Amino acid sequence: MARLETLISPEREQREFVNGLKCGSCNHSFPDQATYVCPDCVAPGLEVSYDYDGLKTYIARQGEWLRPEHSMWRYASLLPCRELPRVGFYTGMTPLVEAKNLGRAIGAERLYLKDDSVNRPTLSYKDRVVSTAVNKALEFGFEAVGCVSTGNVSNSVSALAAEAGLPAFVVVPQNTEKGKLIGSLIYGAKVIVVRGNYDEANNLCKQLAQVNKNLGFANINLRSYYSEGAKSLVYEMAEELGWRLPRHIILPLAGATLLIKTAKAITELQTLGLIDSSPVKIYGAQAQGSAPIANAFEANADSITPVTPNTVASSLAIGNPGDGMAALRAVRNTGGKIGYVSDSEIIEGMKLLARTEGIFAEAAGGTTVGFAKKLFEQKLIPPDEETVVVITGNGYKTPDPVLGSLSRIEEVDYNLDQLRQAVNF
Ligand SMILES: *Cc1c(COP(=O)(O)O)cnc(C)c1O
Ligand SMILES: [Zn+2]
Repeated sequence: MARLETLISPEREQREFVNGLKCGSCNHSFPDQATYVCPDCVAPGLEVSYDYDGLKTYIARQGEWLRPEHSMWRYASLLPCRELPRVGFYTGMTPLVEAKNLGRAIGAERLYLKDDSVNRPTLSYKDRVVSTAVNKALEFGFEAVGCVSTGNVSNSVSALAAEAGLPAFVVVPQNTEKGKLIGSLIYGAKVIVVRGNYDEANNLCKQLAQVNKNLGFANINLRSYYSEGAKSLVYEMAEELGWRLPRHIILPLAGATLLIKTAKAITELQTLGLIDSSPVKIYGAQAQGSAPIANAFEANADSITPVTPNTVASSLAIGNPGDGMAALRAVRNTGGKIGYVSDSEIIEGMKLLARTEGIFAEAAGGTTVGFAKKLFEQKLIPPDEETVVVITGNGYKTPDPVLGSLSRIEEVDYNLDQLRQAVNF
């Protein structure tokens, strides 16, 4: 494959620092395997563990631990693949942009956006996690790869499975937007709509994964590997800022993969001495109509009460988040905050972002922008402290939420006077 030779330097050996999987509950370690549930104590949530001491020595000895690829695989030493990546050559390395106009509008003097609305191949942060999962599916030799999704994971799985030459199937809830269905069908994936919500589709897929062991489910049996891919967003942010991190990071929050892996990536960079140990506060933004983690945060609760989602932010519509408790702990540890914004604040956030920075994000981006606005207005973040707002998805896929609140389109005849009147400047 020519592309592999040009984009992956064959002379640069891939040094591996992955140990395998480790259970957070019983602490037992396991070799690589496609299960998210501990084989010993059946607790969910096996974590990929690394040889950080070995990696620290390697980094100190040669500055070449960063691979030359212009993609998330630049950080392959901190990702769980054991072979050179075979898909995802364009994933990651999205821009960190200074947002002066948006900052002025919300009272933030040092504001940045990490813009995964232009992540590739399918314009959301999910390309990072799915690139990792599909490479792992190839390593394990699965015959087909699938997922359960609110839309963006299914787009990523469909595109990256096509690149890998694997058949793909994607399972989505009934309310999934047309733009996202098309964004899976175009790659030749089998698209299955469950008449129900995401949590119901998820339950079905978990049961299917139990009985069909020849299938790789990106976010079920491959989940431990999948979720690791999210760390690349933070590594990029650190490198783009000159190997340091901002004081505050504001993220959207649904299943909570991105948030808990942000916390893990920060700890890793500090453990490895790649950044100093200045504290970084993490903030999670939910939609009011799907805010089980924010509710628990505000009630100072030690458990999460599932909800039935009802929000325009369909990629955040997860009512029973798998990693919700871990997200609560992570945010409490950093002194950050989890909150929610209403659907109208989400739509205002989408329009504000577009009109100040020229970025059309999907509703998840309106959610983080809306929450950032609240945090600065309520002086919960001081105006002069450096803050990164993460934009996770692209608005061109799902324009529906803003359709009703945009200005009217004017129509004119083939007539100059009418045109002059319409332009009216
Ligand atoms: C999946 C998704 C999220 C939420 O991420 P979690 O890791 O599930 O919390 C946010 N924004 C977009 C655009 C997504 O697709
Ligand atoms: Zn265990």
